[in-house]
Amino acid sequence: MNISGLKRLQKIAEAIIPKQIQYQIFNIGLLARSIRYQGNTYICPVCSTQLNSWLNEDEDESRSHKRFCPRCLSKPRNRLLWVLATEVVAFEPGDRILHIAPGWGLRHNFRKISEITYHTNDNERYATYDASSFDDFYFHIEEVQEGLKTYDYVYCSHVLEHIDDHAALRSIHNLLDSGGTAIFQVPVNDSAADTVEFDNVPVGKHRRQYGRDFPERVRQAGFSVQKADELYSIEPEDREQYGLPRCGSTSNAYIVTKK
Ligand SMILES: [Zn+2]
Repeated sequence: MNISGLKRLQKIAEAIIPKQIQYQIFNIGLLARSIRYQGNTYICPVCSTQLNSWLNEDEDESRSHKRFCPRCLSKPRNRLLWVLATEVVAFEPGDRILHIAPGWGLRHNFRKISEITYHTNDNERYATYDASSFDDFYFHIEEVQEGLKTYDYVYCSHVLEHIDDHAALRSIHNLLDSGGTAIFQVPVNDSAADTVEFDNVPVGKHRRQYGRDFPERVRQAGFSVQKADELYSIEPEDREQYGLPRCGSTSNAYIVTKK
């Protein structure tokens, strides 16, 4: 069954089955489906499943969902975030992490790490449980949260381009502890010097196309910024084996630190 078919089944199931049981069924379903993909060619760094191929199915060709992990549904950029968070700017026992819009696989696997405090947030409680019904908070990241604990790390992947990013950067700055670190991933047009803002964008679509000025935009919010690939190098064969974004990918990642 492809991803669209799986989502149709979810909508039926969520109306009649308790959420926690849905979650377990969904997890078992992924495990069962992943069996035929297992092999020795690739390794998903998020869920450690060894695979002979990635899942490339999607009925909606315009979405270009390619190289999903069949076990945890991670995409290449999700796997890059996992590698950055666990190996490059790795948290330590006792660290507090806020993950904004984490997606199923990352949330599921980060929560297995018992020595950290891992909270997730999405801007609303979506109807489908695999999107965000199991998050800890449901607030709009554009709004500064008063009274919430601060965090050592904030992960925010492919969110800023959809929202008021100046407001969101202020909010994230407020949520980070002094010296805290955030990992941002956004699509950047490396051939454009400046960010282009779009008018009248429907909710959920990109409100702008970032250019090479993205780091400066983040610096103005009170962060120091480093492009992630300046901090680490991954051999091309390892990128391929772990299903990470290929060089030249638009899934850029930035390590930013609260000044
Ligand atoms: Zn996986």
